This record gives sequence, C-alpha cells and structure tokens, in this order.
Amino acid sequence: MEDWVQQLQNSVNTLDRLKAVVNVTSEEEEAITTLNTKWGTTPYFASLMDPDTPDCPIRKQVIPSMKETENRYGMPNYLIWEENRDTGEIRPDCIARQYHDRIAFTVTDICATYCRHCFRKELVLDRKIKLRFDLEEGIAWIREHEEIRDVLITGGDPFILSDQKIEYLIRKLREISHIEMIRFGTRTPIVLPHRITDGLKKILNSYHQVPIWVNTQCNHPKEITEKTARAVFDLLSCGVNVGNQAVLLKGINDNVETFRKLHQKLLAVRIRPYYVFYCEPAPGIDHFRTPIEKGSELIRDALRGHTTGLAQPMYVIATNIGKIPLMPDYYIMEKNEKEYILKNYQGIYTTWPNMPES
Ligand SMILES: *Cc1c(COP(=O)(O)O)cnc(C)c1O
Ligand code: SF4
Repeated sequence: MEDWVQQLQNSVNTLDRLKAVVNVTSEEEEAITTLNTKWGTTPYFASLMDPDTPDCPIRKQVIPSMKETENRYGMPNYLIWEENRDTGEIRPDCIARQYHDRIAFTVTDICATYCRHCFRKELVLDRKIKLRFDLEEGIAWIREHEEIRDVLITGGDPFILSDQKIEYLIRKLREISHIEMIRFGTRTPIVLPHRITDGLKKILNSYHQVPIWVNTQCNHPKEITEKTARAVFDLLSCGVNVGNQAVLLKGINDNVETFRKLHQKLLAVRIRPYYVFYCEPAPGIDHFRTPIEKGSELIRDALRGHTTGLAQPMYVIATNIGKIPLMPDYYIMEKNEKEYILKNYQGIYTTWPNMPES
C-alpha cells in the first residue's frame, strides 16, 4: 500500500481492523465500542504500534481510552476560547486569529490520524463544535486584510486535501501581494509519508518566490522511520523547510531520555524542532497533561547543553492571547555593576563583564 489514497481508504478505524494489528485490551475495546468519537490511523502508522504493549506511545496516541470521559481540568468550548472565535472581530469560521500579522486558516477537519490528545478534539474528534471551512471565504478575508503577511494553513490536516485543492490554495494566496509566506501544519510526514508524492512535490516546487514552510507533529522517537526521512528530504528538495511541533504528553515523552532522543532523532532526519506545546486544557484529555513546569525541566535536563542548539525547540503554552514561552530561565544568577554571574547546564558558574548602556 504505497499509495496515499489507499492508505486512507484502508484506515485502521474499526475494531476488526485494529485487532488485525494489535492485541486489543478490554479497556481499549470498551472505549472503541462506547465512545462517540472519531478515531483511527493509517495502516503505515498502525504498523509502528507494539502489538502486545498497551502502554506503547503510538497506541496511546491513536486508540481511544475511557479516560476521555473524565474532565476535571478541561475547559468547555475550549476551541472557541483558544482561537478567539467569540471576540469582537468578525471573521469567517476558517480564520483563527491571535496575532496582528498572521492567522491560522483551517481548511478541513479530516486527518490521517486522529490524535487522542488533539487540542481541537471538540471539533475534529468529538464533532461537538461545527465550523464551516469555506476556502473562498477565507481567501477573500485574507485579501482584505493587508496586515496579514503570514498564513498558517491548518486543520484537521491540510495535506489530506487533493493536489488540485492544495495547488489552488497556494496559487490564490500567492496572488495576494501582502502574503510573504505560507505555512502548512500537517502530520503527514509522520503518519502518512506516502503523501509527499511527485505530484505534490511539483506543486510545492513551483512557487519559490513565496516560501512554503511545513511544521509537522512528532511526539516520540518511535514515530520516525526511513520513510519519514525520505518524505522530509523530498520536501526539502522542493525548498520546503520542515519543523516539528511536539506536544508534551504524560507517559509518552515526559521523561529525559525519550525527550532527548526525540529531538536528536528529528534532526537526524532533517526535521528542525520548532515548538514543544504544553498539552492544552481541551475537554477529555486530562490524562495526557503534566504540570506546566515539566516542559521547562525537560528542556533544562534533556536538551540545553546536553545536545546541539539545533535540537532546541521553544517550550510554549498556546493561549487565547498567543503562545507564551516557558523556557527555563536559570542562567543569569546574579548581576551587579561590574559583572553577571552565569550558570551553565551542569550548574557550573562563570562571570561575564557588565557592559553598561552608554
Ligand atoms: C500558533 C498560531 C499561529 C502561528 O504562531 P507562530 O508562533 O508564528 O508559529 C498563528 N495564529 C494562530 C491562531 C495560532 O494559534
Ligand atoms: S493531526 Fe492535528 S488536527 Fe488532526 S487529530 Fe492530530 S493534532 Fe488534531
């Protein structure tokens, strides 16, 4: 099944198909048969699951859990709040705005894999929030707003759209003179690398004047294969840079060893770590969430100084007022008129002259 459409048609999204891949536990079976939620993944991504270990990091991201019925800390209508959908500015459903110069443009609610921890769970998985995804309406709004210079195309997964639709979107956005860059947020390089076809490469390659950036989502080193490496190389060969936006997930990547290995392995397949997101308080995903400080601790203990600066993502919480960086701020220990006292990742101190403003 090398064809991406075939991969989607044969999605592992029924109990029988899942049973053909892993030994399904009774807890997993209960969640699949009782929860009213969209779930499933590609046969390719399913093949990376451990058939005998329910604790497998890929299984936990793909297979529904009864824990999704618990909601002590999640906010109802989370997506409406997070994407400022009920504030003063009137926008089409497909446009989410937190910043002056850039927006998120939601073009579909279909994905190749339905991540259990999705912060858009209410929209994409549970279908409790309904939005209209009208490309024309979105493009028209962007055309009218000259302050927008950067469009982040998201979903769902925008690379699930046909080549024709992707080509159309890029062409239309590129015709707008104030658009300086186009970004896609897509999990396909990780969950459906087959999507990076010659046809898609040709489309991406035709538009070098307005750079296209891709950010994917990879949360565990197990998700990275030879096929990932090939897909990323193909994107880069079209002039498309590939970054990663991981989500900090309890029991999946919240330990030093996994966190470091994830970021090293991303670089080994040419993916540049961009963000690590704190797991957002959407309803029904409490079981994936750590305390906020966990991410800063991991940056400090797993990455800073322990491996190259190229492997350092920024740790952020995404809020309704934009992303807020939460990087460990431990390096300036003291400052006086003469000098700074600085601390490195091993806790060793050094001094540095204090240059006053003249
Ligand atoms: C994340 C996000 C962006 C892009 O943010 P960057 O920090 O530039 O990657 C833009 N708009 C919305 C609504 C977002 O959530
Ligand atoms: S691919 Fe993105 S939008 Fe789709 S379920 Fe996963 S996190 Fe949500």
